[in-house]
Amino acid sequence: MSGRHGSSAPTVLSAEAPAFSCSSLVHVYRVAGTDVAALRGVDLVVQPGQRVALLGPSGSGKSTLLTIVAGIVRPSAGRAEIFGTDLSRASARSLHELRRSTLGLMLQGASTNLLLHETATGNILWALRGSPRGSAAVGREVLEAGGLSIDARPVGAMSPSEQQVVALAVAMAGLPRLLLADEPTSQLDDVARDRLLDVMVDVAAAQGTAILLVTHDETVAGRMQRMIHLRDGRVGEEETETGRYAVVGADGSIQLPEALRAAWPAGSLVSVESSGPDELRIRSADSAREPRSGLPGGSS
Ligand code: ADP
Ligand code: MG
Repeated sequence: MSGRHGSSAPTVLSAEAPAFSCSSLVHVYRVAGTDVAALRGVDLVVQPGQRVALLGPSGSGKSTLLTIVAGIVRPSAGRAEIFGTDLSRASARSLHELRRSTLGLMLQGASTNLLLHETATGNILWALRGSPRGSAAVGREVLEAGGLSIDARPVGAMSPSEQQVVALAVAMAGLPRLLLADEPTSQLDDVARDRLLDVMVDVAAAQGTAILLVTHDETVAGRMQRMIHLRDGRVGEEETETGRYAVVGADGSIQLPEALRAAWPAGSLVSVESSGPDELRIRSADSAREPRSGLPGGSS
């Protein structure tokens, strides 16, 4: 893992670098002449070996963030790095290499990740061909947890829930340093979900795998170490063992609690007063809208 001096490529893998980091990350989709801002300044750091759940309402930007981390979509603006590799500057070739050697991908729609004419085991072996890392045994462990250890059917003949098990087995078998999963257990019943989560968490802990997964399922999120809530293309809140917190953005902004949003629409005036070194008091200007003496023209 030595730096290559004299190389013009700014992409040096560093053992110390976060698994993923982004700052002021923006993504705009252009569709038929209209711009849709899916990410509006996301700041997030995921350390190696850390397990992180991404939550948030539909349309909040979760899948967009995941496809950017996967190197599939280039961000419109801002910085995003995987283990020190800058995703907006990396060549197509180094992105491909990153996906092969470092990332495990399980994107939305399990079957898009799979060879449908191959068996489950065939998919694992195909994914591991020529791979420096990777363990077919880990793939089989996942298949077994999902009840598919001896199954000769092609994946195309399997149910959506079975395909989801295979997709997870393929992604885990590569022993990725960062596993990216979009709703990885959405098709599974609770029993299968819990068994697969056990394997996922065990393997990740043993291998030092970082996980970034999108889920709507509180049980799945609860197995991760951090829960990040996206809202309107930004990190709104993070839940830790001690509570649920708003997250200060790189620009110093924080989002209002959901419950206040209707009462305090965009453009509302608030007073922000420091009431101590660790405390801010935010009050709606409406609540203090009695006539104020001393203001020019304030009396009528
Ligand atoms: P989530 O996964 O949280 O539901 P997405 O990242 O899929 O959110 O979507 C965020 C926003 O970007 C939404 O407004 C969505 O309609 C839009 N969007 C997502 N993918 C595309 C795309 N391929 N083309 C255009 N707009 C998109
Ligand atoms: Mg999504």
